[in-house]
Amino acid sequence: MTCAPSSRPDRLVHAIAAKDTVRVVAATTTQLVQEACRRHKAWKTATVALGRALTGAALIASSLKTNERVTIYIEGRGPIGTIAAEADAHGAVRGYVQHPQTDMPLRPDGKLNVGAAVGKGVLHVIREGGFEIGLKESYRGSVPLVSGEIAEDLTYYLSASEQIPSAMSLGVYMEPGDGVVGAAGGFLVQVLPGADDAIVSHLERTVAAAPPITEMVRAGATPEDLVQQAIGGLDWRLLAERPLKFSCTCSHERTERLLRALGVEEIKALLAEQGQVEVTCHYCNAVYRLSAEDLQRLIALETNG
Ligand code: ZN
Repeated sequence: MTCAPSSRPDRLVHAIAAKDTVRVVAATTTQLVQEACRRHKAWKTATVALGRALTGAALIASSLKTNERVTIYIEGRGPIGTIAAEADAHGAVRGYVQHPQTDMPLRPDGKLNVGAAVGKGVLHVIREGGFEIGLKESYRGSVPLVSGEIAEDLTYYLSASEQIPSAMSLGVYMEPGDGVVGAAGGFLVQVLPGADDAIVSHLERTVAAAPPITEMVRAGATPEDLVQQAIGGLDWRLLAERPLKFSCTCSHERTERLLRALGVEEIKALLAEQGQVEVTCHYCNAVYRLSAEDLQRLIALETNG
């Protein structure tokens, strides 16, 4: 097959419908979820949970301005622990799950039990911005987890905390065997002020009747197809589209800055005790090694101002 769904680049489409009273965002995320799975060596249930969170973050980030970003923290008390997913306005997405090598018994219907893996707990959504002018403004909202299935939890958050009637659908399909993400994606429908009741009822029906995301993406659906399915034939127009990618902001230089922030005495102690330092980025699992020479250089920089 020349055009398997998993070989297509990930994309996000942001659309508006019904005389600008309905916002629809849809994305395919198969590649970026695969990359997250590979970097974190995550098992199936953890990959699905993390993949849904990453996709949800990408959808929510569609309304951000340049230099803003959104982070979702799912603090569940289940065996996979905390999930973090972050997305910016340019389609960069990164995230981690605390215990990626965790699996759960399947549900009675044969599906992966994401809700049980996440458990009960709290969902936090943090929007940050203003980095370009040296300010860091942030808005944080928190709600209890509804089911731990993530789409339902984010829908509840958007409706209850941000007060925008919303419906989100997320899906990650794992191929039989190990570590292969067959399909991933999602959509978000939001009703804006001024929408009439007939449109709202129509959307309730079309969202409920839409086939599972994984089924649509596996069959080769594009983000435009997902928009179409979500709003069931309403006229829509494109506001924006962008590629999505698993991408982290860490670097050797940032790791050095992090270390310098600890202070010169701490760096001296690390050099004396360990000789070198290894720092692993939570978000992407990249390992940065600072040699004795690196540490001596940092000490010299701090000492000489
Ligand atoms: Zn990183």
